[in-house]
Amino acid sequence: MIIMKFGGTSVKNSQAILNVVAIIKKYQKRKPIIVLSAMAGVTNTLVAALQAAVKQQKQKVRKCIDQINTLHLHTVAELITAVKLKENLTHFITTETEKLRVLLSAVETIRFESENLMPAILSVGEILSSQILNATLNQQGIKTQYLDARKFIITTDPQNGSKPIPRAIRRAAAKHIVPLLKKDPLIITQGFIAATPEGVPTTLGRNGSDYSASLLGAALDVDEIQIWTDVNGILTADPTIIPSARPLQMMTFDEASELAYFGARVLHPASIQPAMEQSIPVRVLNSRFPDEKGTIIVPNITVREKPHVKSIAYKENITLVTLQSSSLLFSPEILGEFFQRMTRYGKHVYAVNKSATTLSLTIEKQEDIARIVKELSFSGDVHIESGKAIVSIVGQNLKHNPVIVWQIIKMLGEAKIKLDLISQMSSQISFMFIVDEKDIEKTVKLLHREFIE
Ligand code: ADP
Ligand code: ASP
Ligand code: MG
Repeated sequence: MIIMKFGGTSVKNSQAILNVVAIIKKYQKRKPIIVLSAMAGVTNTLVAALQAAVKQQKQKVRKCIDQINTLHLHTVAELITAVKLKENLTHFITTETEKLRVLLSAVETIRFESENLMPAILSVGEILSSQILNATLNQQGIKTQYLDARKFIITTDPQNGSKPIPRAIRRAAAKHIVPLLKKDPLIITQGFIAATPEGVPTTLGRNGSDYSASLLGAALDVDEIQIWTDVNGILTADPTIIPSARPLQMMTFDEASELAYFGARVLHPASIQPAMEQSIPVRVLNSRFPDEKGTIIVPNITVREKPHVKSIAYKENITLVTLQSSSLLFSPEILGEFFQRMTRYGKHVYAVNKSATTLSLTIEKQEDIARIVKELSFSGDVHIESGKAIVSIVGQNLKHNPVIVWQIIKMLGEAKIKLDLISQMSSQISFMFIVDEKDIEKTVKLLHREFIE
């Protein structure tokens, strides 16, 4: 049994959906479970509708709803010829659109992004795309079992972060999926959408379908998790900056986790962890070129390779927070208090550096930064610099190669790129530093030319 997750670009229009059907047919013997994203752009449109509803921009809300409705009806018109199937699906899309209208008008009334309404609104994209794929497969004579992922992707409630609960997922998968496997149908379900144990809708956050695939794969202990996307695997860099970036044949779980964590959009940052715990290989493949080998992500191995850089990632929208305090010299408990206050804001700290009297760390940019500064100023001066980015290199045995670090510092110095915080080499496989956002492209290009091309 395998998981096949198809991302938004893989189902962006009727032709892409037909490609997906052809790929699924090819893999049918391996008993795939299909995890589907919303059609490309749909979740963005839903987010835009939600934000417009908060501001009571009724016309914009209507435009977004119409756009979503038209896209799906148009795709159905192109794909489905069987009269009854088409009628049912058209009716389904119309009903979902009406539900969406009601939910958004509730947001217009309350005028804030309710943590409970939001998942119900954002889930419409995955529900519609998966119904369309299901009908397209049925029309081609393939027996399917359509399952709502909210039955088995179980999370805590939004107030507690909508965090997946692996034990509950395993139990729910055993209840709702395992009995079906005997009958051998092709299971179609959604990524991204989830629910609390009480059935209240939640989501796994933007780009969360990869995470759904991995969580479900781990719960069912599948042989392989396939992430089908629009590039030939994990590349040596973001192809929008380096069009000549090439796919990596193999990566370890740790390497892929580092890349995803530090911004390589191709995988959700948390998506490797469930697969890694069960040692399930993850394969990243291209739905436009299904015969390309892609990248296989495998359990960590100690490689006696020469130190080398495999890939470069970057993460935008980073804020550098610096605490300057002589108390850091003699009151180490300040550190604990500082981090505790940080987590109170649900802030994820990406990198930390400490000297005798300063502590620097990076967080993602957010609106209430002034409140955070106030909260953190309990023991010294807090200084904020926004518009930063984390750039990281991932590879093998980096820790033991001071030359790489020296090369980076020299190269960026010569290019007059300001470095803000360099991670101490705590990891063998990654090395990161902070630059100004405006320098991302230049930095990635320089690093790629120096270490990869
Ligand atoms: P999907 O819709 O399949 O989930 P995403 O847009 O989330 O696809 O992720 C795929 C995109 O990630 C690629 O089109 C590519 O532009 C981007 N990307 C960024 N860094 C990398 C990388 N190192 N390797 C591959 N793709 C990357
Ligand atoms: N549709 C969701 C998003 O765009 C989840 C995903 O595609 O992974 O964020
Ligand atoms: Mg994605």
